[in-house]
Amino acid sequence: MNLRQMLTLCLMLLVTGGVSAQNTTQSTINKDSLPADAVIVKRVPLASGEAFDMKDVLVVDTIPSTSEGLSIVLYNDNTWRYVRNRNIDVLDETIYTQYWDTSKIHAYNVELKDLPMSMVIDLVDTLKSYHYPFKGRVTSKYGPRRRGIHQGTDIDLETGDPIYATFDGRVRHTTYIARGYGNLIIIRHDNGLETFYAHLSETNVKPGDWVTAGQVIGKGGNTGRSTGSHLHYEIRYKGHSFDPERLIDFKTGDLRRETFLLKRTYFSPYSRFTQDFDEEVQSDEEDKKIAQEAAAIKYHIVKSGDTLGRIAINNHTTVTKLCQLNGIKKTSTLRIGQRIRVR
Ligand SMILES: [Zn+2]
Repeated sequence: MNLRQMLTLCLMLLVTGGVSAQNTTQSTINKDSLPADAVIVKRVPLASGEAFDMKDVLVVDTIPSTSEGLSIVLYNDNTWRYVRNRNIDVLDETIYTQYWDTSKIHAYNVELKDLPMSMVIDLVDTLKSYHYPFKGRVTSKYGPRRRGIHQGTDIDLETGDPIYATFDGRVRHTTYIARGYGNLIIIRHDNGLETFYAHLSETNVKPGDWVTAGQVIGKGGNTGRSTGSHLHYEIRYKGHSFDPERLIDFKTGDLRRETFLLKRTYFSPYSRFTQDFDEEVQSDEEDKKIAQEAAAIKYHIVKSGDTLGRIAINNHTTVTKLCQLNGIKKTSTLRIGQRIRVR
């Protein structure tokens, strides 16, 4: 399928409204007003879309996209979605190999002092890949609590309520801890974060399973050391927890930002996301600016003699990252004049 055919398909899907998995609002695009070579690009919504329920949905067809790491999958209920081709090495593969241990809760052995002062994390990319874990009232915040430190956020629920995977990723560990987490699922994500879902009454996934944001991974409950049904939810980076409310507004279920500037100071249990404005908003704006600048897209035009390795070094990045950004393999041949995204 060439680009034009693919665009025609996209337009068709937009016009016929067959895109309910991606976009439930009516399209206002008038295809006659578009130039012939127009490319329609979706914005990544920060709000959760419909949960992806695998029940009764069958794959009708899989169509290659312009990026070899992505396919378009058509379902029998007239919906479609982009699906990452996990067989093609376009992700930062170290995420699922380094410190990958399915046998224990804490897989990383990275000391806080060895983490950079701040790091930019692209939470979602051009794929729609976010869904709230559960939307509800926060009953206990991250931070010091009684004698210990509360490593996550508690959200009120009824036993049996569905719990969703927050981002795309792979289940690293599941366990039952009677005097603690109860039924626990840990998922490692493409963006490098890990999320913990505890006190579940039921788990639907096992270590090694690939999951999509919005996939139901289990049901909420009251197992382990818990009084009253709730979800205990943690977000960790290299094993270190920070306040999940920095990323998620649990009341609305929305992701607060696409790109997150994670500062080392956030790993302190005394560092919380607050609704306490002025100073917080100001530093938040600064953070967003820094994160946006860091995330700004930059291209390199391939010249004679260029290799992925050389381009990576000249642009202070890695070959893996270049492959990930461009949906190419390390062994792909570069053409002179080809535009390579370097950031
Ligand atoms: Zn908790």
